Amino acid sequence: MASIFTRIVNGEIPSYKVAEDDRFYAFLDINPLAEGHTLVIPKVEVDYIFDLDEETYQGLFAFARKVATAQKSVIPCKRIGIAVLGMEVPHTHIHLVPLHSEGDLDFRKEKISLTPERFKEIAGLLSNAFNKI
Ligand code: AMP
Repeated sequence: MASIFTRIVNGEIPSYKVAEDDRFYAFLDINPLAEGHTLVIPKVEVDYIFDLDEETYQGLFAFARKVATAQKSVIPCKRIGIAVLGMEVPHTHIHLVPLHSEGDLDFRKEKISLTPERFKEIAGLLSNAFNKI
């Protein structure tokens, strides 16, 4: 069965899209640690990031760098933190999280809640910034 993220890429499940090309897709985490918390995935469905073929692995990080640059330009933060867990969804994804301090990347802390309007607004800001890079 297709992963939930493959279904998002295929448009079967909605997402707050930030960026896309032929091989990669970025969208807002629905349960974010911070405003602008974004997931970057390869369209190819591979569970474990270190099992990706070399070209996809390199491409994923290049795409993530562009997304992080967009985040840094519109979300007030010190820097963008990066994490790869995959404990919940078996489809490679990089978490990109705007940070003010070390503790902001603690996945055990309470998530923030945002309205659909705010999610849409943030995705729009990030998407515009990404398209200018
Ligand atoms: P992990 O696999 O441990 O990296 O966690 C999966 C992440 O995906 C969590 O942060 C979830 O909030 C996020 N997530 C799960 N389903 C969705 C979805 N439909 N849209 C956006 N984010 C999701």
